[in-house]
Amino acid sequence: MGNYVSDRVGNYVSVRPLHVGNCVSADTSVHYVVSCWCEQRCVDVLLPHLAGVTVDRFERTAGGLRIWARHRAGEAACGGCGQVSARVHSRYERRMVDTAIGGRHVVIRLRVRRFFCDATGCSARTFAEQVTDLTSPYARQTPLLRQTLETIGLALAGRAGARLAGRLALPTSRSSVLRLVRAPARARRGRGEAARRG
Ligand SMILES: [Zn+2]
Repeated sequence: MGNYVSDRVGNYVSVRPLHVGNCVSADTSVHYVVSCWCEQRCVDVLLPHLAGVTVDRFERTAGGLRIWARHRAGEAACGGCGQVSARVHSRYERRMVDTAIGGRHVVIRLRVRRFFCDATGCSARTFAEQVTDLTSPYARQTPLLRQTLETIGLALAGRAGARLAGRLALPTSRSSVLRLVRAPARARRGRGEAARRG
């Protein structure tokens, strides 16, 4: 990806990077730093479920691909009361397994902030930010990966589903696939009962 972008009449024009990126090669890994906004635009187009984060860096390893990212917004809403806060309490790293890219197993290392909730009456003193389409509380898989594994599980069930997922660089276990298949089944039964109750 170069430092060029198409203008209004379709010509490619040079743009100034926000900072200089670099590639670092080693025996087993290659780092690529996302260094300007047009490269971030490419990430948004190719990986739309990462549109809510800024991707800082890719690392290609022998085992797959690692992506370093952080939330784009400067503030977040408390999950308990909805109050928006920009007062950061702390930061930590969260690891999310994602769908494969180019046949490579993908792990997203997401820089997460914990905010103070200043709303009177809210029982949560602090809360962790969530990224739409990418995270949910306590989940270690992205929604896209979860949906993919559910689809595989519904078609093939546990053992064969886990085998196919492994071939697609989505390592999982037979029990994990079965758990995903049973979870939507429970949700579907719940929706059916709710509809019957009116
Ligand atoms: Zn709150």
